Amino acid sequence: MINVEDFWSEAKNKLSITIQTISYEVWIDKLQPVCFVDGALILCTISQTAKRTIDSKYLDSIKEVVSSINSSVTDVVITTPDKKDEFINKQSVFLEHEGFVTTDNRSVASQPKKCPFLEKYTFENFVEGKSNTYALAACRTVAEEPGGRYNPLFIYSGVGLGKTHLLHAIGNFLYKNSPRTNVLYVSAETLMNELISVIRNKSNEENNRFREKYRSCDVLMIDDVQFLIGKDATQEAFFHIFNDLYHANKQIIITSDKSPKDLTTLEERLRTRFGWGLTVDIQSPDMETRIAILKNKAAQLKFTLSDDVAEFIAENATSNIREMEGLLNKIVFFSSLTNSVINTRELAYEALSDFIEDKKDTVDASDIVETVCKYFNITQADIFSKKKTKNIVEPRMIAIYLITEILPMPLVQIGEMFGGRDHTTVIHARDKVAEELRSDPKMKIIVADLKNMILKR
Ligand code: ADP
Ligand code: MG
Repeated sequence: MINVEDFWSEAKNKLSITIQTISYEVWIDKLQPVCFVDGALILCTISQTAKRTIDSKYLDSIKEVVSSINSSVTDVVITTPDKKDEFINKQSVFLEHEGFVTTDNRSVASQPKKCPFLEKYTFENFVEGKSNTYALAACRTVAEEPGGRYNPLFIYSGVGLGKTHLLHAIGNFLYKNSPRTNVLYVSAETLMNELISVIRNKSNEENNRFREKYRSCDVLMIDDVQFLIGKDATQEAFFHIFNDLYHANKQIIITSDKSPKDLTTLEERLRTRFGWGLTVDIQSPDMETRIAILKNKAAQLKFTLSDDVAEFIAENATSNIREMEGLLNKIVFFSSLTNSVINTRELAYEALSDFIEDKKDTVDASDIVETVCKYFNITQADIFSKKKTKNIVEPRMIAIYLITEILPMPLVQIGEMFGGRDHTTVIHARDKVAEELRSDPKMKIIVADLKNMILKR
């Protein structure tokens, strides 16, 4: 089944390069994907006025992009929060038809199903690196031997590191090699929406359909299970589905942004069950893997990516592969738009800075440094100096981190700005702050304060 969030996120990626930055941010970026109803993608905007603008100016572009990604999605409907539920109630019809991958007659439709998994998310297109070796190996084993050794398989990682890609890869693999296997992929959010609809409509028929759908699959994949936190009724329903499938030796695969033991606010009995099989994580990829991934994506786009440009992109997006792909897409688009070859760091910098012009126009690196100095009450001479006292080193690292976050400035250039430091020093400073942001609540507040001050100047 197509996951509406992933589908929309891919569409957004494409729209972000065809629609002007400002219009994109105002009209497209904030649209919420709701669900699919009979082949239409339903998107929610905040008001009737916004809906009118989007309908008249952007709907055609959205439709075009959406059907270019998957030809079975033929329409797009923009709705508003008050009407959203009507669509959620209707969505089961589409799910019923699209939910299963099977070529036999067990499912509703009699014709062979189109593969519902994203074509490009295959094992072949997944680049192996130190950061994902175990997760990849586990997924391959499960695809070859569902319900076997690793059940349930629990995969966790930060965002944009390949969990959904791996689930689709398993789906694609089974679709091709074992077409009789019923594979069901749902995001935890979809599961919840379906359940809400079942509860609300109090229809026995719908309830039976829901149970049948989940209990008759051979492989159940639940993406982003952290979404179930605080959703008691859905956890309860999932608990029963889990038990039935597990005891029937059906394969269950779950992804999450945290390990089972860190999902502390999820029901204990679910957490315990998640740990019964194999738990694997995906780490942030190292530089070498990031470059290999970029080369792989560029090859898919038939774009010749020079080593310099690959390095430049890989340096500027370190912890999220989706973000890295976004930068590559922009370069590819810019190159075709201007009909020019982009093969050096400088050209790449130019190409990318064009797309973030609005940001660049309002903030530059010296604004960031100035704000950080004021905040910590130190002088600019100090922050650029070689001084190593804690009260200078910390603001310096934070300033560097913020510059890398906010501006598309090459690391080498940042190093030069900070008293001729090497770009590896810049990387170190940035990563150190990023790491502290994860563990130290105080750092979170400092950085959030500073960002606020900088972006509201
Ligand atoms: P998550 O579900 O963990 O948030 P995704 O699976 O959506 O992440 O991955 C984000 C993007 O990064 C996708 O386009 C995916 O193809 C790509 N990606 C992630 N890891 C790899 C990898 N090892 N090789 C190739 N592409 C990858
Ligand atoms: Mg995902």
